[in-house]
Amino acid sequence: MASSTKYVFVTGGVTSSLGKGIISASLAKLLQARGYSVTIQKLDPYINIDPGTLNPYEHGECFVTEDGAETDLDLGHYERYLNVNTSQGNNVTTGRIYQSVINKERAGEFLGKTVQVIPHITDEIKRRIQILGIDNQHDIVITEIGGTVGDIESLPYIEAVRQLKWDTEVDCIVIHLTLVPYLASSGELKTKPTQHSVKQLLESGVQADVLVLRTEHHLTSDVKHKVALFCNISKDAVIESINVDTIYEVPLKMQEEQLDLVVLNKLNLPHGETPKLKKWRSFLTDLKNPVETVTIGLIGKYIELRDSYISINESLIHSGVSNKAKVEVKWIHSESLNAENCAEELDNLDGLIVAPGFGERGIEGKICAVRYARVNNIPFLGICLGMQCAVIEFARNVVGLKDAHSTEMNNATANPVIYLMKDQEGVSDKGGTMRLGAYPCAITQGTKAHDAYGTELITERHRHRYEFNNKYMADFEKNGMVATGINPNGGLVEIVEVANHPWFVGVQFHPEYKSTVVNPHPLFVKFIKASIKNKK
Ligand code: GLN
Repeated sequence: MASSTKYVFVTGGVTSSLGKGIISASLAKLLQARGYSVTIQKLDPYINIDPGTLNPYEHGECFVTEDGAETDLDLGHYERYLNVNTSQGNNVTTGRIYQSVINKERAGEFLGKTVQVIPHITDEIKRRIQILGIDNQHDIVITEIGGTVGDIESLPYIEAVRQLKWDTEVDCIVIHLTLVPYLASSGELKTKPTQHSVKQLLESGVQADVLVLRTEHHLTSDVKHKVALFCNISKDAVIESINVDTIYEVPLKMQEEQLDLVVLNKLNLPHGETPKLKKWRSFLTDLKNPVETVTIGLIGKYIELRDSYISINESLIHSGVSNKAKVEVKWIHSESLNAENCAEELDNLDGLIVAPGFGERGIEGKICAVRYARVNNIPFLGICLGMQCAVIEFARNVVGLKDAHSTEMNNATANPVIYLMKDQEGVSDKGGTMRLGAYPCAITQGTKAHDAYGTELITERHRHRYEFNNKYMADFEKNGMVATGINPNGGLVEIVEVANHPWFVGVQFHPEYKSTVVNPHPLFVKFIKASIKNKK
């Protein structure tokens, strides 16, 4: 629609965790609804090449894209809101920027020049931003800058934004997100932190064009006017972002506040009619008016930080809505489960999910939970490590291989029912070396998986090193655990099911990465459906 790609930068001030990712995704949603092709990018100021090697306690879940990039969890929000895939180029870290500049230096590409933050690092940042606008593949690129203005590590990014704003051939604006705290004792909303934050941005040469103010109480027009005046922002461009019950309400709030209109006006783009967002609104109506409640136990070892399982949690919300049910998630620490307390701890759950994960910690608790679900006919969804636990449990308690294990946990086991994939042997680097991204999977007819997907060939995203050991396939199938999804190129087992169980499915891939508001994931939808039935 636009003649050349426009750029919107989203920065944050005052505190972290204000929800820049959700504001970016909401704006993108509104612009998309007006007919623009939009993509979102996240720039992360840390030195890791990607979050793949980060402990989930540090930054929450690692989101995996179709093309196998291990990325920041905000990309998950982008995909869930826009229903459009992101890719490697949508998440850039300082580590990646420096890596490419240093590689160029070693290759002699700088022709003897001294390599410096300005211009070499900032040029590389600008290149990574503008790459998404090449050939006008998108009308608008929204780039979210991680961290908070004033952080030492975000400075090169802010400088890159300043240069792009200075370059009159690049059309761009800056949205700055801040917090307006409320002082209960005096009953006042305080704008001073916002004023300071805008000033700090200005010290780096960047004037914010739009302010989004996160607040617990509505902002009066006086407050908005004051902020506009003191921060040098046009009056219509001070946007309130009030706390809401669900992140899915934010796009509608931003539409009420006309964030999309302000942005389009500033970018000199036509806006047309205000979109009705029918599907989004009906999703929200169903979300707020569930007919029933279903309780799902999520067994994992990083549950202290809910963001570690954010895509699973959102998938449960999407699939709950499509079943007209509210999904109550009970977070259960795998380390707290054992054979003695399992029945008590897992009592009253309508369905069970055993989460993905790495390493030994909590593994026996997960295996106990699988057994409980299998023996008591409770709907079960095992994801990645959760599927591997289902295989180990079945081997030990049904096939009779008492010492069965994954070689990830016990390299010396006599029955390695889960073992290292062939192409992982000899790999010693940790970063970016797993089986990553989308792979095809052929599904057997007449199975739970086929009932969910309604098709025989699917693709799903992976992130693992270990796999089902096909040597044991015949023993498993004889005893009632069947491989119902197989990778057509090479025969890796991707889905297992327990045949005489109401709903027991283990998947080697991560269905949670593909669930969106308009396309809730079919496996989650059927899992929730089975859990509702179990409740009754
Ligand atoms: N640790 C297991 C593997 O690498 C499972 C990984 C996961 O759950 N994502 O195979």
